[in-house]
Amino acid sequence: TDRDFQFPIWVEIDRTALRDNFHQVRSHVNKSTKIMAVVKADAYGHGALSVASLLAQEGVDAFGVARLMEAEQLRNGNISQPILIFGYTHPGNVFSLAAGNFIQTVYSLTYAEELHKTAKAAGVKIRVHIKVDTGMGRLGFLRTSTSGNISICQDIRRLFELDTLHIEGIYTHFAASDSEVLESAWKQLDLFETTLSELRNFISLDNLCIHAANSAATMVIPEAHYNMVRPGIMMYGLRPSSKMDSSSFNLKPVMSIKARIAGVKRVPEGFSVGYGSSYRTERQTVIATIPIGYADGYPRILSSLGTMLVHGLRANVIGRVCMDQLMLDVGHIPNVQESDEVVVIGKQGDDEISADELAQMTGTINYEVVSRILARVPRVFI
Ligand code: PLP
Repeated sequence: TDRDFQFPIWVEIDRTALRDNFHQVRSHVNKSTKIMAVVKADAYGHGALSVASLLAQEGVDAFGVARLMEAEQLRNGNISQPILIFGYTHPGNVFSLAAGNFIQTVYSLTYAEELHKTAKAAGVKIRVHIKVDTGMGRLGFLRTSTSGNISICQDIRRLFELDTLHIEGIYTHFAASDSEVLESAWKQLDLFETTLSELRNFISLDNLCIHAANSAATMVIPEAHYNMVRPGIMMYGLRPSSKMDSSSFNLKPVMSIKARIAGVKRVPEGFSVGYGSSYRTERQTVIATIPIGYADGYPRILSSLGTMLVHGLRANVIGRVCMDQLMLDVGHIPNVQESDEVVVIGKQGDDEISADELAQMTGTINYEVVSRILARVPRVFI
């Protein structure tokens, strides 16, 4: 609606791009392979509930989140698909896990036993997936060699005796499936395979959901697809890394960040701009004040460094980025007016500022650029 576009700053989410990226995943994997869309961290800053609702309409099979609160947000928003929690949930929260019919990751025997104990006392059953650490060094039953590590299978075997835990899946996560050399990913896959085949000696894995592939592995390691893939970043139209070949995909960035010019003023040469008076104009120019600051997720490190698009042209951030505002030099752009649209990420005219460009300028990855946009910035779905 018109009202949506009257925000001083907003994140614009391109529904068509999101749908299209999802269907690229769909057509890339086997028909029988399920897709778990990763929507943790507010769908990488894109707005978890709206993103999940759209993907649910498109036929996604499941959702992955990091925390119980994120899972609850989706259920409260009427998302009915299975939701896997990748991260830690306090065992005291078994009621919430059961009430939401969520799937909790179990990644150690002690954690599983604690979960079992509280579930038993509460009289509930908990759906779980088992996490195997094949080289990420994060959560998971540790697997470091293809020959030894007998204890990991003994531990996992023990899980099947905990009768409150309903084991529905087993998975691992790659540390480096997005680099040019996939040696470490192949090694992880090998360790995962060994674990699976050892487990098959004493339990059937036939009805289990087996999964390993993040976006990068979804794109380039079909052997890692198993019966479900877990793409995140690629659905948002971004590449997992600039090093990998994504030429067989035509991913479209889903997020743009836009703002409106709050004020315009002509200032003389030698005029100081912003906190600390750290910037002085070199000539008479025009400055535009933009309602975006570090408390929206625009990094302060971009003080006198960042650029934005105004009338399709680049304008430099001058002076320090404030909490809610910053200033642009628009002296070279004719006829800049209050309320004109400014593009922080996205296209305007013939130019584009990508999340990758901002990531490079701020020494980080596109994942952080999109997911650090704070909650007060409205997400507008177009
Ligand atoms: N699976 C797990 C366990 C994750 O933590 C993540 C996110 O880091 C993903 C899948 C999705 O990764 P990506 O966004 O690289 O596709």
